[in-house]
Amino acid sequence: MADTHRLPSPVADTYEWQLRGACRGMDSAFFFHPEGERGAAKARREEQAKQVCRSCTVLDECRRHALAAEEPYGVWGGLSVAEREVLIRAGDRQLRLSSPAPSDRTARSSGTAR
Ligand code: SF4
Repeated sequence: MADTHRLPSPVADTYEWQLRGACRGMDSAFFFHPEGERGAAKARREEQAKQVCRSCTVLDECRRHALAAEEPYGVWGGLSVAEREVLIRAGDRQLRLSSPAPSDRTARSSGTAR
């Protein structure tokens, strides 16, 4: 029998949470800024979108997806683009700090002790 545990999960299962989003059926302009929007107008629109997210039952799934996919636009999971960028950068930094340096990996794989 074929080993299927490494195959990607069916798309419908992976994204089923999107069907339950509080934003479902809303105008996407609520969550994605129009061309040239800045300053107070942008902040006001983002805050209104985040208010919708706060009542959303799939906020965690949405946020995890947006961070993993590094969604470049819009409010997802109650976070703006700028807020997600901070978390993604912090996660990258944490990964780099916890990973051995390339020279350490070379030394280990060649059996050389430091
Ligand atoms: S958390 Fe916000 S963006 Fe995500 S599905 Fe819910 S309402 Fe939509």
